[in-house]
Amino acid sequence: MDRATSKVTIVGGGLAGPALALCLKKQHGIMSTVYESRSEDDEGGVNIALAPNALRVMQHIGVYDELRTIGYSYEEMSMTSARTGQQLGSFFNGSEQHYNFAALRIHRREVQATLRREARAQGIEIHFNVKLLRVVEETEKMVKLEFDNGEIVETEFAIAADGIYSRVRKHVLDVELQYSGFVGILGMYMERKLLDESIKNFQLPMFCFGNTGMVAVFPCKNLGTEIDMFSTFPYPARSREAWEALANNKEEKQAIMMEKYSRGGWPEFISRVYKEHVPKNLYFNEFFEVPPLERWSSPIGRVIVLGDAAHAMSPQGGQGAAMAFEDAETLAFTIARPNFNSNRPKYLRAWEQHRKQRVAEVKAYTDRNGKLRTPSNNYVMQLVKD
Ligand SMILES: Cc1cc2nc3c(=O)[nH]c(=O)nc-3n(C[C@H](O)[C@H](O)[C@H](O)COP(=O)(O)OP(=O)(O)OC[C@H]3O[C@@H](n4cnc5c(N)ncnc54)[C@H](O)[C@@H]3O)c2cc1C
Repeated sequence: MDRATSKVTIVGGGLAGPALALCLKKQHGIMSTVYESRSEDDEGGVNIALAPNALRVMQHIGVYDELRTIGYSYEEMSMTSARTGQQLGSFFNGSEQHYNFAALRIHRREVQATLRREARAQGIEIHFNVKLLRVVEETEKMVKLEFDNGEIVETEFAIAADGIYSRVRKHVLDVELQYSGFVGILGMYMERKLLDESIKNFQLPMFCFGNTGMVAVFPCKNLGTEIDMFSTFPYPARSREAWEALANNKEEKQAIMMEKYSRGGWPEFISRVYKEHVPKNLYFNEFFEVPPLERWSSPIGRVIVLGDAAHAMSPQGGQGAAMAFEDAETLAFTIARPNFNSNRPKYLRAWEQHRKQRVAEVKAYTDRNGKLRTPSNNYVMQLVKD
């Protein structure tokens, strides 16, 4: 059985993992090794919006300029009435003038690939197709990790960047995920020119509010030539098996969407998507969340959680990745304190407190957004009761 030793081992090569590895290396000269269970060319994930706080971290680690050439930059989101087409107001998702960055709509895999490329250029090793099985033991001196290829890694610090279903988190705290009460439907990469021409009457990106909910319409790809549409709404809880069955049942998903968006009262370019031109890239997600964790590190202080592993929340605030990046930059700063090793619990407590407060604020904003998008008429309430 192989034995490897490295100072910092990061489990998970999604967004938080490579971001942390880059913050450690480029900002503090600390090398780490990343283990990722999926293959390098995994296409998982959807288009996401990176807000200025996410992009600030990307700039600090030197990948912002590249991301900007891939994604679609925008500042204002308009809020529009589905029934009359009238613009009700607008707000900034990002703004060069106010926050130094516009917002960026980009596929999660592009962000991941860019971070991984930069990590590799910095000499950071990322091992793909290797899944952490468990934390075998943690002592005052080291942590021992077991991977599914038989490798046992002894390391000074193990960082959980392994997402909502984190295995590393189990060593710190074993918690049950909670259903947020919301689901989301996302259709990606619809060619703008093939959509109904009523789209020309609307200022994009927009949140379009109708009597059965809200549909967000975003240009995507660098030049905005393609369109994403997504909607989130309350949905009754189901068993895990029933969620899986729904994920694989195209007809049922389409029926749910048609029920909500094709009844009239929606701009033609939206309702026709749900009635006739159902996009190939259609995702239906139920949103689970990590409940607030009592602590983000083990009592000995050699196993630490961050990103979705620590605080996955429903995406209605568009802040999950941003929180993961802020965690990464602040944790790297904490680990790099000269006497961190001998004062781990103290430093980690201070980091945790700072991050928990920030995440709680963002979570409250996210929950508020979810409610604002929910129609107040009986339609949704009836659906939830059924
Ligand atoms: C539909 C949807 C829309 C979203 N929209 C936005 C948005 O607009 N803006 C925003 O900021 N955020 C958004 N998010 C949230 C964002 O995607 C997450 O918060 C972000 O990906 C978290 O990054 P992470 O690295 O912590 O976890 P992940 O991205 O989940 O990465 C975890 C990685 O760990 C790997 N892994 C898991 N288990 C193991 C193991 N045992 N061993 C080794 N590797 C392992 C996984 O393969 C994965 O690569 C959205 C999420 C969803 C679902």
